[in-house]
Amino acid sequence: MLAKYITTPIFYVNDKPHIGHAYTVILADVLSRWFKINNYDVFFLTGTDEHGNKIEKTAREKGMDPKDFVDQISGLFKSAFAKLDIQYSRFIRTTDKDHEENVKRILKYLYDKGDIYKGTYEGYYCLPDESYFTESEIIDGKCPVCGRPVQKISEEAYFFRLSKYKDQIINFLNSNSIIPDFRVKEQLNRLKNGLFDLDISRKTVKWGIELPFDNSHTTYVWFDALLNYLTAINFDLNKYWPADLQIIGKEILWFHSVIWIGILSALNLPPPKKILAHGFWLVNGQKMSKSLGNVIDPVLWVEKYGSDAVRYALISEKPAHDDGDISEEKLISKINSDLADELGNLVYRVLSLSLKSNKVFEGDDLLSKELDLEGIKNDFENYDAFSALHKIMDFVRKCNKFVSDKRIWELEGKEFDSAIYSLLNSIKSIGILIYPFMPNTGIKIIKMLGYDESYINVKNLAFGPIGPVKYREILFSKVEKK
Ligand SMILES: [Zn+2]
Repeated sequence: MLAKYITTPIFYVNDKPHIGHAYTVILADVLSRWFKINNYDVFFLTGTDEHGNKIEKTAREKGMDPKDFVDQISGLFKSAFAKLDIQYSRFIRTTDKDHEENVKRILKYLYDKGDIYKGTYEGYYCLPDESYFTESEIIDGKCPVCGRPVQKISEEAYFFRLSKYKDQIINFLNSNSIIPDFRVKEQLNRLKNGLFDLDISRKTVKWGIELPFDNSHTTYVWFDALLNYLTAINFDLNKYWPADLQIIGKEILWFHSVIWIGILSALNLPPPKKILAHGFWLVNGQKMSKSLGNVIDPVLWVEKYGSDAVRYALISEKPAHDDGDISEEKLISKINSDLADELGNLVYRVLSLSLKSNKVFEGDDLLSKELDLEGIKNDFENYDAFSALHKIMDFVRKCNKFVSDKRIWELEGKEFDSAIYSLLNSIKSIGILIYPFMPNTGIKIIKMLGYDESYINVKNLAFGPIGPVKYREILFSKVEKK
């Protein structure tokens, strides 16, 4: 069995998950499920990033012990992912014992190798981002990432010899491995300012992994976090490394396309095959923020509309690499038009007609040519879930058009059989293909047709004798707009 290793970033547990986190894991889950029904051995990794100054500070403000605090927030991520039907292989926490031990092993290796050394850190620190910047990186005394003020600091720290791996990093950036490719230029431009060794320890932060060679320091949270992609698979590198796809938000591309590649090079490991940097979500044209009170809790949407609808709305709304806009109104209109009027209606109409004759349908294939299966497969190979989903929904629309154009309810005999044969096989294909996006809907469709869940596999897409249909139900009910 071929292996596929797909990762999301591990999410920082300073607050409960919002719709942006949900999008990242849904995208990873859609792609993982696609490769699963193509018979890959998929390892899908997600989790939470739980160390650092900011967590320590937030916990303290809430009068909590940091461990109790991260347990609580990490639990909220886990339960949100369960509600969104995220089928991960492992949910790693950077406070997991095996992760901490493996991080120490890696640090020790790099220290013994001479790639970690002691020095003095002088620079600027952005507390909200837990990020350090050089003089040339800050903009008018402000953080180049978030624009908030930075503090000037000078302290003893251990450094990772990132500068030593500049060639490997530039080779990676030029290797066509980043989606979308226009982001490569931003990273190369930033590299022109120089590539500095990276401080990887803090003496002042207690809430972190102690350095194995100096326990008065803890590991810088980003260094600890990046290593999760290796520690999670417990060094099962032959099977899973290099990762096939690392999905991240565009704001952390520097960490993944530069720092991460440097660390991997120091460990003599190849870079990931692809990094997909997705865009941001706006809500009704505005940035999500606590102060605006427009932060969307994905769990509330799932409770109101079901996880399939939320998954569908987010993936269908925009190509992963673009920024996008989402709102409850948009979600409702997608449920009403795409899911109830198109998909739900097709399945209900055709299955109702099929149920009138309790038999196996055979006949001429009048529809499979309308399905762009090669295009869909190709989209998935390029990790373009948005495009694949639109091709599937185009096919749903073509099937509905076929029903009305042929007026199939008036057909009889062989003509009726061929129409139903073609439509039932098309619905079967839709059930299988929609499953990665909307697992509950895919399973429902397949069961109505008389198969069990294990039938959901790309090898079963071919048209053939089909039926008798078992039952039919309404997949999506319309939602009234407020
Ligand atoms: Zn910042």
